[in-house]
Order: sequence, then C-alpha cells, then structure tokens
Amino acid sequence: MKRLPLILLVVFLAIVAAQDAYVRHLRNRKVEPRNYTVVLSLDGFRFDYQDIANTPTLDSIQRNGVKAAGLQPVFPSLTFTNHYTIATGLYAENHGIVANSFYDRQSRKYYDIYDKKTTSDGYFYQGEPIWVTAESQRIKSAVSMWVGANVSIKGYQPSHWAAYDGLVPYKARIDSVINWLKLPYNQRPHLAMCYLEEVDNVGHSKGPDSPEIVNSIQLADSLLGYFVGQLKTLSFSDSINFIILSDHGMAPISDEKSVNIEPFIKADWIDTVSYSPAISLIYCKKECVDSVCLALKNVEGVSVMKRSDVDAAFHYSANNRIGDVIVMADSGMCMKYKDKRTLPGGMHGFDNRNVLMNGIFYAIGPDFKNGFAAPQLYNTDVYGLMCRLLEIAPAHNDGQFERIECVLK
Ligand code: AMP
Ligand code: ZN
Ligand code: ZN
Repeated sequence: MKRLPLILLVVFLAIVAAQDAYVRHLRNRKVEPRNYTVVLSLDGFRFDYQDIANTPTLDSIQRNGVKAAGLQPVFPSLTFTNHYTIATGLYAENHGIVANSFYDRQSRKYYDIYDKKTTSDGYFYQGEPIWVTAESQRIKSAVSMWVGANVSIKGYQPSHWAAYDGLVPYKARIDSVINWLKLPYNQRPHLAMCYLEEVDNVGHSKGPDSPEIVNSIQLADSLLGYFVGQLKTLSFSDSINFIILSDHGMAPISDEKSVNIEPFIKADWIDTVSYSPAISLIYCKKECVDSVCLALKNVEGVSVMKRSDVDAAFHYSANNRIGDVIVMADSGMCMKYKDKRTLPGGMHGFDNRNVLMNGIFYAIGPDFKNGFAAPQLYNTDVYGLMCRLLEIAPAHNDGQFERIECVLK
C-alpha cells in the first residue's frame, strides 16, 4: 500500500510524457489542412490524341488516376470562350467572352485576342472565375497565361499571375508555377493554373492528321512529365490534385472544302463581322437581320442562325455581344470572308457536340480515383469540381456537379 503514491506518480509522468510526444507529433506532421489544386491546359489537345502518339506520362496518369472519354466544350468551341468557361463554369452567353473577337454594342468596344488592351479590360469579363472565388474566400491563387489572369475581375486578381506571352518557353512557364508553389506557406497558392498552346498551334498549321501533330503531342507529354517530376519534389506533393485538360479538339480543313460567304452579304446590311473559318458573328444594321439570314440560308456548307432563334442546346443567345446572325460551318466544311489567305490545316469553333471538338480531362491526386475511366465530361462542370477540391463555396454557375462527381474517391 505504501508504494501506491509512487506508482501513481510514475503513471502520471508517463501520461504527461505521452501527451507531450503527441503534441510534438501534431506540431511536426506535414499533413496540410487543405489539398492543393494544379490545373494544366494543353490548348487544342483532342480527346483521341493519346492514341496516336507515344505518351508515357499521360499513360501513367491514366493508370494511376482518371481519364475521361472526352471533355465537351461549350459553343463556340474557341479558345477564349472555353478557357473562360472552364474558369467560371458558365456558358458563353453568361460569361460574356462569346468568341475570340466580338463587338459589344453597349460600350461600342471591340474585343480581340490580338489586342492586349482589350483582353486586359475587365469590362468584358462577366461571371466569376475560380481564382476570384478562391481569393475572395482567402485562398491564394497563381495563374499563368490563362485567359483573364491579367485582369481585375470583381476587384480581385490572382495573388500571383503572368499575362499571356507566347515568347516565354513552355518549360519556363512550368518553372514559374513550381516557384510559386515553393513560396513560404503564407504566400503559397492553393490553386495554380498553367497554359501551353503548342498542340493547338501545330493542329492549326499542319492539321490534326499530320505527322507533325504526333511530335507536338509527344512534346506536350514530355513537358507534362517534367511538370509532374517538379511537383513530386515539393514537400507537400502528396496533397496535390493535378488536372490536365484542354479547351477543345481540332478538325481537318482545306481550301477545297470551303465556302466564301462574302458575295452573299451586301455591305450596307452590316455594321461589322467577327470572322473565323468555323464560326462568324454578323452584327447587322437595324432592319437588315432578316435580309442577311435569307441571303445565307441556302448557302451550302454553312448553317445560319438568328441569335433570337438559336437552338437552346447551344446556350448562345442571351448576350447581345453574340451578334444578330451566327454563321457556323458544317462538319467537314469551312467558311471564308474577305481573308484571301489559304486556310490552315486544322480548325475548331464548330458545333461543340461534334466529337472532333472534344478535348481531354485527366486527373491524379489524393482526391481522385485510381485507374478510373470516366465517361465524356462537360467543361462547365470543372469549376464546381475545383471548388469542391479547394473546399470553397462556388459562385452561381451553369455546371452540374453530379455529372463530374464520379471522378472523386
Ligand atoms: P485560337 O486557336 O485562335 O482559338 O487561339 C489560340 C491562340 O490564342 C494561341 O495560339 C495563343 O497564341 C493565343 N492566346 C491564348 N491565350 C491567350 C491570352 N490569354 N492572351 C492572348 N492570346 C492568347
Ligand atoms: Zn484553344
Ligand atoms: Zn486554336
């Protein structure tokens, strides 16, 4: 009985020591409270490109993560429209970047991807991109060369960003994202987005069926391999969810399969035309909308839609930047207008339901399933997915989370 106080003391000291060890363990553990989301866009990477080239990195991501059968873009299947849809979860009519170039009647301003003054003008960017959703909820973001990265939207910009500059080598762009992720915790982004255009460039200039496209796919895959390798060097690499996607696919085109719409439209019917070989927007003079429609109605190779009667499936009418008349080249065809140059080898911008317009969606990381083949996904749903990964509340959007939820564990 005399030994009891001593035993109690020993037990007490043991409990204190165990508690100390547990507190030390908690303090020292490397587990992050919130996972990181890294997104890489490979512009113009078509859903089936993995099948025609040697792609060890994508193959490994497919085995250990998620590969979707395709990622359907929104209409029109253009770069600016779809990068901003991926960022906002909104259809073009709701986010306002209705094409790569367009006219805004209200402000009488033009938007044009080749004019930096317009692409950096916050006026054009409606809706809320993911980095604004994150920053407004005190989650830091870093966005490299993505459409809208260099713009103040709703008073927010990413904590770290780089405006598009096609002269910056691809590897350097990846390095700058890695350097942002290496910043001390209080400056480090939980969301990082990166953009590379190599595959789109070659898809246009040489066509999606060319031998050159195979080389560009392999180059993209090796850049992806470098990216993955760099991510693995980070101390928190186990907490990174990595999504690789694209904005659209690519269809072969040729001068022989093209139609010039210019001779059908009288100059005094129109204010301006936003032309591209796959889709053109015609801004008509008042009272001339029907004349333009009637004149183009029976032209073989294109479909003509009045903005007010566009098929609801396109979600492409509720914004007057769209123009009064939409001319879309039919599958396998292309249009010309004023531009006398020979058409390139490939194009996109066509009906977004055309399978050749499908992009890619791959994902790997702690929140994604392993070796999971997802069905075709929709790029309007990626915003909601990113919000879920980042544990932030989404803004109003056009996505349906139930369609993409299957990729998560
Ligand atoms: P497109 O194939 O015509 O739809 O557009 C793709 C091209 O847009 C790329 O080759 C880039 O040169 C260019 N581009 C992509 N993102 C941006 C950006 N944020 N600002 C300016 N140009 C861009
Ligand atoms: Zn693109
Ligand atoms: Zn393109």
